[in-house]
Amino acid sequence: MAASDIQASASSGTSTPKVWKAFIAGEWRASSSGATSLLIDPSNGESLGTVPKCTKHDAKAAVDAAREAFDKGPWPTLKPKERAQVLQKVSDLITANSESLALLETRNAGKPIRQSTLFDLGLAAEHMHYFAELATSIRWRQKVSQPDYEGTFGIVRREPLGVCAGITPWNLPLLMAVWKAGPALAAGNTCVLKPASLTPLTTLELARLFEEAGLPKGALSVVTGSGEEVGDVLLTHPGVDKVSFTGSTEVGRTVLAKSASTVKRTTMELGGKSANIILPDADLDQAVDGALFGIFLHAGQLCESGSRLLVPVKDQSRIVQRLVERARRIRIGLTQDFETDMGPLVSEGQRTRVEGYIQWGIDQGAKLSFGGNRPDRPDLRKGHYLRPTIFSDVSTDMKISQEEIFGPVLAVIPYQNVDQAVEIANSTIFGLAGAVWSENERKAERVAERLRTGTVWINDYHMLTCHAPRGGYKQSGIGRELGELALDEYLETKHLFFGKGSPLIPIARGLVIPPDPEPAAPSGGTSATGPNPPSP
Ligand code: NAP
Repeated sequence: MAASDIQASASSGTSTPKVWKAFIAGEWRASSSGATSLLIDPSNGESLGTVPKCTKHDAKAAVDAAREAFDKGPWPTLKPKERAQVLQKVSDLITANSESLALLETRNAGKPIRQSTLFDLGLAAEHMHYFAELATSIRWRQKVSQPDYEGTFGIVRREPLGVCAGITPWNLPLLMAVWKAGPALAAGNTCVLKPASLTPLTTLELARLFEEAGLPKGALSVVTGSGEEVGDVLLTHPGVDKVSFTGSTEVGRTVLAKSASTVKRTTMELGGKSANIILPDADLDQAVDGALFGIFLHAGQLCESGSRLLVPVKDQSRIVQRLVERARRIRIGLTQDFETDMGPLVSEGQRTRVEGYIQWGIDQGAKLSFGGNRPDRPDLRKGHYLRPTIFSDVSTDMKISQEEIFGPVLAVIPYQNVDQAVEIANSTIFGLAGAVWSENERKAERVAERLRTGTVWINDYHMLTCHAPRGGYKQSGIGRELGELALDEYLETKHLFFGKGSPLIPIARGLVIPPDPEPAAPSGGTSATGPNPPSP
C-alpha cells in the first residue's frame, strides 16, 4: 500500500479493513512470510485492517539498511542544522495531520479522542520540535585544556552511536515513537522501530511523515511483528548499537539480558506503581480531583498512573467518600465521542488481567468502595470496558498495592504519619513517579526529596514537559528520556589528545634507551617521565 493510501485510510476513519504495510529500508513492504495480524478497535470491536507479521528476516533487512545508512551516510555526516530541518518538518507535518492521527490513535489504542487530540498529538509535535532544537543547541565539539600535560590540549567530540533500535509499548504509541526516533535521529543515528503488536498504526504514519520530510532511505524503518520474532533480532543483532526499550519491567529484564550478549547501550523505561500522597494540610478538593485524574486518565494504562493513594488514616473515610462521589461523574463511553472521559482497556486479555487483580483485592481483604465490574450498557458491550474501581483499607502486603495493574484500579492506603507515608511510597520495586499534595510547598518538597522516584509532582499529576528529564529509579528504568539528557543517551563521547611528543615515545620505538647502571629504584620514587603516568 502506498503511503498516500495509508493517509487516506487514516483520514477516512471508516471501518473498511485496510492492508497496512511495514516500512523497511525505505520501502512499504508486506511480511516476507505473507503473514498478517488483524487489528481491532478496542472500543467497538470493529476491524482496523491487517498489519504485516514481520519475520526475523524482515527485521534483519531493516537493521542491514540502517547499518548501511549509518556507515555510508549521508545522515550521520549532515550538519546538525540539516538534520534539525528534517525533524522540524516532521513536527510541522504532525501538526498538519493531527486530526487524522488523533483519530487513528483513538481507534487503534482505545484512547478517548479528547485525550488523543489534546494530549498525544500536541505533545508529539512539540516534542519533535524540541528534539530538532536540541540537535543544534548541544556542544558537538569542545576544546579542553589539559594542565596535567603541559603544552597539550584536547577536543571532546559528541558522535552518534550507530544503529538504534526502539521498542515501544501499546499505551502511547505515537508519543513513544517520537521519543525514540526523535533524539536518535537528531543525534545522527539511524533507527529501527518495533511498535507494540496491538498498536502499530501511528508509528507507521510517523514513518510516512519522515519519508515525506526527506529522511534518507534506510535511516528509519518500522518493523511490525512480535517481540519474540522482530524484537529478538533487534536485541541480538551485532549491527545494532543501542536499544531503547519502553515496556514492562518483566520484559525489560529479558531485553537487558539479551542486549548484554553484544554489549549494547540501553535505555530502559519500565513499569511503575506510583504513590500519590495526600498530606494532612492538603486542599482536599484539589487533591481528590488530582487523584482521580492521576489514576483514571487512559483508564489507568499509563506507566506513571497514580495507582496508590496514600491518605492520613483519620481522613480516609471522608477522602474515599469524595473519591466515590466524583468517580460516579466520570463519563465512560465510546472513544470517538469528545465528551468521553474514560475509554476501554486495550484488549480483552488486558481486561481479564485487570479483573484478576480486582478479585485478588477482594480476596486479600481490601474494601471495594466503588466499581469493580463492567459497565452494563448495550453501546459498550463490544468494547473491553471496566468501571473505575476504588479499593480502600489497602495494606502494603496486598498484591494490588505492590504490582503494576495497568488498569482503572485505585488502591487507597491509610498512613499514620509522614514517615510511614514515605516508607509505604518507597516499598515497591518500582520508582517511576509520584505526587505530593499539600498547601505548603516547602513541606511537600521535603517529602518529595525522600521519594525514590524519577518524577514527583507537587499539587499536580501527569504533567509532561520535554524540557525536563524523565525516567525511573529502581526497577522502573535506566537512563532518561526528554530534557537535554535525552540526546546524551544517543551519543558517544570521543577525546582527541593533541600532544607535543611524549618523552615516552623514544622508549616505545626502542630508541635511545639509556642502560640502567643501578638496580631499579624502590617503588614510590619519581619515574623517569615525571610525575604524570601516560594514559592507559
Ligand atoms: P510489554 O509487554 O513489556 O511490551 C513492550 C514492547 O516489548 C512491545 O513492543 C512488545 O512486543 C515487546 N516485547 C515483548 N516481548 C519481547 C521480547 N521477548 N523481546 C523483545 N521485545 C519484546 O509492555 P506493554 O504491555 O506493551 O506496555 C505496558 C508496559 O509499558 C507497562 O508496564 C508500562 O508501565 C510500561 N510503560 C513504561 C513507560 C515509561 O516511560 N517508563 C511508558 C509507557 C509504558 P509485542 O507487542 O509484540 O508483545
